[in-house]
Amino acid sequence: MHQIHQIYINGQFVTPHGEELFDLFNPANAQCIGQVRLADERDAMNAVSAAKQAFTEFSRTTKAVRVDYLKRMHAAIVCVEAELTEAIIEEYGAPVSRASWMAKHAASVLLDAATVLEDYDFTQHLGIAEVTMQPIGVAALITPWNSNAGFICGKLAAALAAGCTAVIKPSEMSATQTSIVTRALHEVGLPPGVFNIVTGRGETVGAVLSTHPDIAKVSFTGSTAVGKQILRAGAETLKRITLELGGKSPVLILEDADLKTAIPMALQAGFMNSGQACIAGTRMLVPAQRLAEVEALVAEQVAGIRAGDPNDPATSIGPMVSFKQWQRVQRYIQIGIEEGAYLLAGGPGLPDGIDAGWFIRPTVFSRVTNQMTIAREEIFGPVLSIIPYDDEEQALTIANDTPYGLQAYILSSDLQRAHALASRIDAGRVLINTLAHEPRAPFGGFKQSGIGREYGTFGLEAFLEPKSVLS
Ligand code: NAD
Repeated sequence: MHQIHQIYINGQFVTPHGEELFDLFNPANAQCIGQVRLADERDAMNAVSAAKQAFTEFSRTTKAVRVDYLKRMHAAIVCVEAELTEAIIEEYGAPVSRASWMAKHAASVLLDAATVLEDYDFTQHLGIAEVTMQPIGVAALITPWNSNAGFICGKLAAALAAGCTAVIKPSEMSATQTSIVTRALHEVGLPPGVFNIVTGRGETVGAVLSTHPDIAKVSFTGSTAVGKQILRAGAETLKRITLELGGKSPVLILEDADLKTAIPMALQAGFMNSGQACIAGTRMLVPAQRLAEVEALVAEQVAGIRAGDPNDPATSIGPMVSFKQWQRVQRYIQIGIEEGAYLLAGGPGLPDGIDAGWFIRPTVFSRVTNQMTIAREEIFGPVLSIIPYDDEEQALTIANDTPYGLQAYILSSDLQRAHALASRIDAGRVLINTLAHEPRAPFGGFKQSGIGREYGTFGLEAFLEPKSVLS
């Protein structure tokens, strides 16, 4: 059993003032695997005050010093990659291939930030002005459970690269990952208070961080509902706020696409991270004249997708993170059936041969209209909708007819056509015939998928304020 009874403030592991014990679970068998003692409001305030004190010195460090820190932090996370992979499997249920990618990602984001920082010019001259990019102040970094270690490291990397200090509030459901990351980063020996990690509830620790006058910046990844609350809470002190929220990403399969490659890629986009991905391609838009062909291929391929034991390398879909999340996804499957969508694969209940754990049958609905609930709301599970379209204009209208705008996918054998279409899609990222990630390119959403961008220079500048000095 994991017993995690300390938080990290001012360079030290301390017992929280908060006393609530929160159970941690293995979602693959629904067994309790330990407890984390949660921080409370007073702990959050102590962390802010440590970060504020550290900011004076840290904001004046040179680029070279911070590049060195980031490289050492990268090396420290690399050293715990194996341990982190195990924790991600046990506590979150990611299939082993995904979990090991996630652990590597937690390390690589630190190195990526070091590279961006090395190349970044903090001063430029515009007319008679000297414009300097100045670290914004103490940053609050709030992360969700669906890639906790990666979000902690990614947000912290950008904040420290900028010269900010940070208070991190990770998801309370990811405490073993957080504890591994904290111990590794502690070994780097950053000045006390530069980063602080307080695992606690959103309503307590999160609420302090989004209202505290000494927090200048909030970088939040999570649900759109909580993102809006944070924006409202931060308005009083005019915090700079980056929000990375939900999505309902379209996968546009054009009629010239080679379905033998397009369908596996579309399914991978839809079921990535067991469907618990903000960028999951959950609306598959297919030409009506090829619907029968698509349905046959999808049914055949989904039959071969394994949902089950995350430790088995043959598994590509793990359990949902919690019983609550399992119930939520089951409810959406029921809604899909009730609203008259055609159940092409999967359905309610547990996958065949599984009698414990929070598993979902990989589910695909077809002949879905874009007005159905399953096409409009983020399900955050392995449930996809196939929506037929008559022509490219209609496909584009459907793709953009969503409150979200995080990511879109285009699968086509005509690159020029795909690029022309990409320019008309309202989404922060459009992937053409690929599922690749580009850490130098900005990431973030249009519309209700968020505000601001992470990664690369855009992500760094989210922690900086421009100052013009004229003489
Ligand atoms: P969530 O919004 O419930 O929680 C996210 C974090 O916010 C947690 O640490 C939580 O404790 C904290 N929180 C909750 N209430 C708060 C409050 N009032 N004030 C401050 N903090 C508060 O989301 P979740 O269920 O952990 O994650 C799933 C959601 O995250 C999905 O909607 C998904 O789309 C989104 N997500 C977005 C991205 C992206 O980059 N756009 C990436 C991953 C997940």
